[in-house]
Amino acid sequence: MNRFYVPSDQIKGDEVSITGSDVNHIKNVLRLKAGDKIEVFDGSQKSYLCELQEFNREFIRGMIISETKKDIEPTIKVTLAQCLLKGKKMDLVIQKAVELGVDRVIPVTSERSVPDIKEKEDKKLSHWRTIAKEAAEQCGRTLVPDISSLLSFEELLKLGKTFDLALVPWELETGNSLKQALKEPRRLAAGPASFLVTIGPEGGFSNEEIAKAGSAGFKAVSLGRRILRAETAAISTLANIYFFLD
Ligand code: SAH
Repeated sequence: MNRFYVPSDQIKGDEVSITGSDVNHIKNVLRLKAGDKIEVFDGSQKSYLCELQEFNREFIRGMIISETKKDIEPTIKVTLAQCLLKGKKMDLVIQKAVELGVDRVIPVTSERSVPDIKEKEDKKLSHWRTIAKEAAEQCGRTLVPDISSLLSFEELLKLGKTFDLALVPWELETGNSLKQALKEPRRLAAGPASFLVTIGPEGGFSNEEIAKAGSAGFKAVSLGRRILRAETAAISTLANIYFFLD
């Protein structure tokens, strides 16, 4: 079943209005017609079976036939703060993070992050938000994770306190491991724990950044004895967190 995210203000009673690029996708790519069915979701943990009824140039009108409350969102909320990566690696990280269950992704500029997206931040954000929407539609999620505006590393550090646990995977950490860090919240698992995971750019974090993160209450953790590429580090950390705690 083809799934589409539709903002909740486009669902009125049992009438659904589909707009934007989804109109072209439904008409010209999927070649659906009146009478065909799709699934829509609006971020409220509900999915609806919807019959397409009226095709216009700018919008498609559908009718909700039934409602299904799917309990597939993770109980723990994990925010991924990813320092900007080169090429299409941010796209990959965002797509996989959404599939794994991420709650929110924050792109971050750090000392060694190479891409400078200041001039084109809006364009990049809307590209990443489209990737998040499509990944959420594809993998059956009932909400589209937020892709926040770009933050500096210092701005991110201020956010750390708003989470139950703020982790910063660091390849030079020898004391704490991700595994040990996850044992603690496991005991708290009764409540909805919130995590912040901050992954460095290709060149990693500077010692100064790790020291500042430590002072801000972030816990440095090792992901193992091998150095992972940033995108592998992000994806595997999320996979491990959900594996242990969800
Ligand atoms: N340039 C560095 C590696 C950076 S890897 C070097 O070659 O030494 C990019 C990011 O992935 C790091 O900033 C860190 O957040 C994460 N990472 C990679 N391997 C890791 C490991 N074994 N333990 C913890 N974090 C790791």
